[in-house]
Amino acid sequence: MEKEPDWLVEGAAHVWRPYLQMKTAKPPLPVVRTDGVRLYLAEGRALIDGIASWWTAAHGYNHPHIRKAVETQLSLMPHVMFGGLAHEPAYRLAARLAKLLPGDLNHVFFAESGSVSVEIAMKMALQFWINRGMAGRTKFLAFRGGYHGDTLATMTICDPEEGMHSLFAGVMPAQVIADLPLDEAAEAALDQLLAERKGEIAAIITEPLVQGAGGMIFHEPEVLRRLRRLADKHDILLIFDEIFTGFGRTGSMFAMDQAGVEPDIVTLSKALTGGTLPLSAAIASTRVFDAFWSDDPGAALMHGPTYMANPLACAAANASLDLFEDGLWRGRVQAIETALRDGLEPCRDLPDVTDVRVLGAIGVVEFAKAVDTGGLCARFAELGCWIRPMGRVVYLTPPLVIDEGDLSRLTAAVRQGLGVN
Ligand SMILES: *Cc1c(COP(=O)(O)O)cnc(C)c1O
Repeated sequence: MEKEPDWLVEGAAHVWRPYLQMKTAKPPLPVVRTDGVRLYLAEGRALIDGIASWWTAAHGYNHPHIRKAVETQLSLMPHVMFGGLAHEPAYRLAARLAKLLPGDLNHVFFAESGSVSVEIAMKMALQFWINRGMAGRTKFLAFRGGYHGDTLATMTICDPEEGMHSLFAGVMPAQVIADLPLDEAAEAALDQLLAERKGEIAAIITEPLVQGAGGMIFHEPEVLRRLRRLADKHDILLIFDEIFTGFGRTGSMFAMDQAGVEPDIVTLSKALTGGTLPLSAAIASTRVFDAFWSDDPGAALMHGPTYMANPLACAAANASLDLFEDGLWRGRVQAIETALRDGLEPCRDLPDVTDVRVLGAIGVVEFAKAVDTGGLCARFAELGCWIRPMGRVVYLTPPLVIDEGDLSRLTAAVRQGLGVN
């Protein structure tokens, strides 16, 4: 091991790291630069990134097209407030997102992080009913296995037990938590629940097709059609959180495209800027937006994060959308899907492995119990790969541009790291 960089030694006493017991955690790996699908460590070694930095770096790191767009924007205008001012990167991006999204998801509200966009979607849903004079619609129906963020309101709609926020049960208002309607019997049960409680529920919220941070749990597109039918029947709003699934990850531009249904509000973040800068959006349908359109100032959405619609982030997002435009990502994601299936399948025979599953550019090896994240991370890093397991799953969500050779090194590292012969 090389000598640790000075900044790491000096800062270690002051940086509070995410999702960790700081006392017992292994030290982090110092990264000094990135390129393509690689992270370069201070000691000079490169790791192939199997996680795409929490699912953001869809086109790999330092993509020249995104870098150029951000550099150009930086020389013009790094930031201005969005209250009372407008700028081209945000206005162009809003129009492009509205065009890319299905149906009439046309009204884009920008923020800087995924959790905040979910909070805004929740606030839109609550105020939708208030503006329409319907009191009492104060709760959300969310699902076991779900993850929607770490802020106070989003914690209440995450899985109450498996999620990371069970300590806070009782601190925040309880929501209505149910199982996703995976079959017709479950749909009937949910129908019954909604018939009884619809007067209290503002919106149903789910991650479409894949519950990501809750354990990479997949469901069929039919489940989303069931939710749309139930939401329509009981006149409740439907929110899809596409923060993880959006931008090609599941094989379609948005996961909801595979179900052919649209929510009333959708949230986007993560790969929105291709992993370059923080940005998120809550995008409302015309029906939702219309409930705020009024001569009454009190009916307005009173929200406005300081750095909302940051021009650098919007420029990065526009450049990222340019890169999706040639459609080549579809073939790439298909090839990744096939390689993940072949490469991870041998893990199924390991003791304690309960499932191996793949959807688009998401490959999952699930264990019966929580795995040793820190220990496995270190082992994978020795094998030249950056793979960070989560709860009971070891998973790969590589940049969508990864080539065959690097991808096979990732799946080989998973097999070898987990002890497949
Ligand atoms: C990551 C994630 C969030 C939270 O986004 P942050 O930017 O971390 O606040 C919300 N919903 C889903 C589905 C996510 O994957």
